[in-house]
Amino acid sequence: MKVIELKGLKKTYHLEKIDVPVLHGIDLEIYQGEFVAIMGHSGSGKSTLLNILGLLDKPSEGSFKLAGIEVSKYSDDELAALRNHYLGFIFQQFNLLSKLTALENVSLPVIYANTKDEKNHEDPAKLLELVGLKDRMEHRPNEMSGGQQQRVAIARSLINKPLIIFADEPTGNLDTKSTKEIIQTLKELNDSGITIVMVTHEPHLTAYATRTIRVQDGLIISDETTKKSDETKKHRQAQTFKHKAFSFSRVKDYFVQAWRALLGNKMRSILSILGVMIGVASLISMMAVGTGAQKAIEDQVAGLGSNLLMVFPGASQRGGISSDGGTRMRLFHEDIEDLKKNVAGIAAITGYANGRAQVVANGKNYNTRLEGVSVDYADMRNSHPGSGRFFTETENAEKKRVVLLGQTVIKEIFGGADFNPIGEFIKINRIDFQVIGTLPVKGSSGFRDEDDKIIMPLNTAMYRIIGTENLNNIDVQVKENTDMQEVADAITQRLLFTHRFKPTDKDVIRVRNMAEIQETMSSMANAFSLLLGAIAFISLLVGGIGIMNIMFVSVSERTKEIGLRKAIGANNADILFQFIIESVFVCCAGGIIGIIFGAGVAVIISKVAGWATFVAPSSVALAFCFSALTGLIFGVWPARKASLLNPIEALRYD
Ligand code: ADP
Ligand code: MG
Repeated sequence: MKVIELKGLKKTYHLEKIDVPVLHGIDLEIYQGEFVAIMGHSGSGKSTLLNILGLLDKPSEGSFKLAGIEVSKYSDDELAALRNHYLGFIFQQFNLLSKLTALENVSLPVIYANTKDEKNHEDPAKLLELVGLKDRMEHRPNEMSGGQQQRVAIARSLINKPLIIFADEPTGNLDTKSTKEIIQTLKELNDSGITIVMVTHEPHLTAYATRTIRVQDGLIISDETTKKSDETKKHRQAQTFKHKAFSFSRVKDYFVQAWRALLGNKMRSILSILGVMIGVASLISMMAVGTGAQKAIEDQVAGLGSNLLMVFPGASQRGGISSDGGTRMRLFHEDIEDLKKNVAGIAAITGYANGRAQVVANGKNYNTRLEGVSVDYADMRNSHPGSGRFFTETENAEKKRVVLLGQTVIKEIFGGADFNPIGEFIKINRIDFQVIGTLPVKGSSGFRDEDDKIIMPLNTAMYRIIGTENLNNIDVQVKENTDMQEVADAITQRLLFTHRFKPTDKDVIRVRNMAEIQETMSSMANAFSLLLGAIAFISLLVGGIGIMNIMFVSVSERTKEIGLRKAIGANNADILFQFIIESVFVCCAGGIIGIIFGAGVAVIISKVAGWATFVAPSSVALAFCFSALTGLIFGVWPARKASLLNPIEALRYD
């Protein structure tokens, strides 16, 4: 049976400007069971011919039937499948993968086979035994001699029960003793029925062949059959063959191969993972700060209730030379009572006088925020004392020296938070005060510790501590089902009237609706987290470009490996997937570590800086998807470059 039939085969290489004709029309028939030695001077076209016979290269002209199949018009992927199914290769350079053991190298072609059925391939361990490497199965190529490596390559060429084995100067790199062993092994394989086509420089090796062909300047000049080949021992019948481009059964192998490649270059893998990790970690922690601030503001504002009006003195008018002059309204303690009495729709009202206070007690000295407030404050701000009591209207009127302490202040002065300071005397700005209650825990409002403050009656604060007659502002809680705007207008008009301003002087006073403030605050917080997210996104992008760089390096470094994989039957999709999986894997690993790391950073930020941070599940999902996508996007280009490599050129690459 003819396994190879060439008619008028020509090959011309096209260089940039010139065409290099190498094969000038070759007619050749090779029968099953033959052992063909191809001889010729260097540059005569032996390797070119062998590469075409082995489907690694395509002829420029002529017809080529392999096992009866006309293959000259086959696509790259179909040729890859045919190589895997019918052909075995032995190269002068051995071309073993250095990161894999002998056993793994031998099994490599099985990955790219159409079926992994045990019946369709040999047992790799048995093959290694056959070539005399029983005790070297777990060794890597660099732990073996050249002769041993070539024997591993022979075992690999046999794994898919090939019809023909092609060998291009298989002994070219070996010493005399190894040469003899290798040629002996090939002879035995031929005796068992496998067709062998071997290119060689060494005339004495033709003694082992059944037929010797001499090539000169791209033409066959002699062809002699020296021995009768035994065609009866049919090692394998050529059968019709169906090409399958992609199979899901390979996905697991893609992962294994990608994993091996990553393990094979640990330092580089770790650095790429680190790049993505930093990007993702900053994304996570920045978004945690952003959403934390947003949430804190929202909680804070929601706690105030939306039926709240805030009354501020307006901006100083007309040049503003006298900042507390007649053109700016000043709020007084009397205004509180007056508004409550004369404006309909007010449920509760409190004035504020704010300042800082030096608190001395228990041998400690502590500076904190001071708020003078009205009695309604407890209801309005949901600040009923955790223990003790709030002050009364009488205490306010009489400027009594009573104070309520926030949790942080208690901790700072008395040590433990469970200390009960009720009844204790403390000095505030050198004046004795009695503690009558503790404030409930409020937590942090993004950037401010809401428990780091003390409150006291408004009059006490204004006249005894701060020394002012003016209020900072007034908060008004509007009754349910009352129009906020109406009440706001009524307050403005009443204050203009009592303070003897013209009804048109609306600028001297500002009445703010809480709902408006809420909106402004959340849109600000939103912009803030967007900004942080954008910064983090850029760092992820930089990480992605780093990955791409590394993948490109990896592709050119592993060009030979890619060539070998293609030679033994990997198609373009196989190579593409392997490289994409490598890059996606690196990015996902970086992503997961980055998420954990970023969450840790968020916790540290909240502990150290006291900012509220919140790692939202959505931001975790986002960060992970982004990192996987980074791997995909930045991996595709290098992977595509790898997959499109021509196997012969890739194998020749140094
Ligand atoms: P041999 O194996 O007999 O020594 P080759 O088949 O490798 O010779 O090469 C035959 C001729 O083809 C040489 O002159 C070589 O320079 C040329 N050649 C081989 N491959 C290429 C290529 N990819 N591009 C251009 N010329 C090539
Ligand atoms: Mg050659």
